[in-house]
Amino acid sequence: MDSNNLPLRPLRPRAGSGYDVHCLVEDRPLILGGVEIPSDRGLDGHSDADVLCHAIMDALLGAAGERDIGHHFPNTDPSLAGISSLTLLERVGKILHERGYEIGNIDATVIAEAPKIAPHLALMRERLGRALGLNPQDIGIKATTNEQLGFVGRGEGIAALATALIFPR
Ligand code: MG
Repeated sequence: MDSNNLPLRPLRPRAGSGYDVHCLVEDRPLILGGVEIPSDRGLDGHSDADVLCHAIMDALLGAAGERDIGHHFPNTDPSLAGISSLTLLERVGKILHERGYEIGNIDATVIAEAPKIAPHLALMRERLGRALGLNPQDIGIKATTNEQLGFVGRGEGIAALATALIFPR
């Protein structure tokens, strides 16, 4: 049985998608893709609030039929307070491995009005790759603004989208 209590099916390639958003607040570091980015505000949350890691984790868990990060890492769990999302991402990689899957590639988008993300993309890909045992070339990260529209446009938060492809080992 899988975590949704449905019978397991033969392994085959599967895709998953993830979305996350966190508020920008004072007195928090801004962590994206496991990299601390210089900023006057950071993302608020129970863990380090790394919105990019969280979207990627949901894409991977979704692809594996493993529900979502809230199920595996509840924000009511005191042991997860302030935890690095790279550590959580590593655990997600292990869940997929145990399920018999390998990651094909990940493609993600960070939506933020500021600061500039592009200078940090290479290091993010390297750190995400290390957490998942994946070549950085198999992790795509794009950055865009929200054209000053909505809550992201007003700088109230940062959002991230991710897609992942996994296949049987
Ligand atoms: Mg989150």
